[in-house]
Amino acid sequence: MKYLQRISVLLLICTSFLLAKPTIYILATGGTIAGSGDSEIKSSYSAGAVTVDKLIAAVPSINDIAVIKGEQISSIGSQEMNNKVWLRLAKRVNELLANKDVDGIVITHGTDTMEESAYFLHLTAKSKKPIVFVGAMRSGTSMSADGPMNLYNAVNVAINKESIGKGVLVVMNEDIHSAREVTKSITTAVQTFVSPNAGRIGSVFYGNVEYFMQPVKAHTVNSEFDISKLEDLPRVDILFAHPEDSSIFVEAAVNASAKGIIHAGMGNGNLFPSTQKALSKAVEDGVVVVRSSRVPNGATTLEGEVNDKEFGFIAANSLNAQKARVLLMLGLTKTNDLKELQKLFLKY
Ligand code: GLU
Repeated sequence: MKYLQRISVLLLICTSFLLAKPTIYILATGGTIAGSGDSEIKSSYSAGAVTVDKLIAAVPSINDIAVIKGEQISSIGSQEMNNKVWLRLAKRVNELLANKDVDGIVITHGTDTMEESAYFLHLTAKSKKPIVFVGAMRSGTSMSADGPMNLYNAVNVAINKESIGKGVLVVMNEDIHSAREVTKSITTAVQTFVSPNAGRIGSVFYGNVEYFMQPVKAHTVNSEFDISKLEDLPRVDILFAHPEDSSIFVEAAVNASAKGIIHAGMGNGNLFPSTQKALSKAVEDGVVVVRSSRVPNGATTLEGEVNDKEFGFIAANSLNAQKARVLLMLGLTKTNDLKELQKLFLKY
């Protein structure tokens, strides 16, 4: 009898352990997913107006699959994203994921700068546990709002064991993207996120997750960047190239004490002659210059039409200008050495 009792207690413990739901934190930063407007058929709304508790309450099904906890990190449209919020977010993510009782994190975010925030976390989060960014293109008060399904899918990705070790992910409109590759491609449509050079790495349909690929560039636990003691980040500006370009923007960046400049060049990172001269002078003055491209696909290669060695420029490889900015900001927290910085652009 005693033996049977012991077996049933053991079975009870095993079952409750197996049935225990994973704990997922939803960290809200604002954006359209938390947007609210006066009309379901008008595009005007205020981003970030809805609190995290209301976001969670709008998708009750997520409570069936996980223990959900919410925290408000900020309440902004992501065009207001800044170094302070990035650092607060990254520090909180690292703190939460160091706790063995936390299984994953979903970050709700505006879509405008989601790619940069996701890449920042991809390089600074120190955990293999899933970290999933999610947003919406239509506010919660809009007809056919996309936020609730996106949030439901994001939580499903966060609790999925196959998401472990893949770095930071972006879930939107049934697609799963790697933070390194993803970019916003259409200003208004719900199908806006694409990974131009690599493709989406998976899909999530009504919560069913399927992966096709594994990100191979270094990230999270294999990243060398440590933000734990940082209060701010070095200033890096982006300049957008065009015919009849002017050197005054380079001079303005240098005068504003930029530590780095990302040049979104023409084609394979090509520069208008006067800009090239000004950027070369900026390098002589100690500013780090990275050549990226205004072209959405492909890479900016070392030694294309531009002699990078001669001018002391760095090539961004396949990072777009806004992501090259994130990597350079983090790179400059470690080194000013141009060779070392160039290596980072090939590694991450
Ligand atoms: N500007 C808003 C933001 O990025 C709108 C974009 C969105 O969230 O869809 O927060």
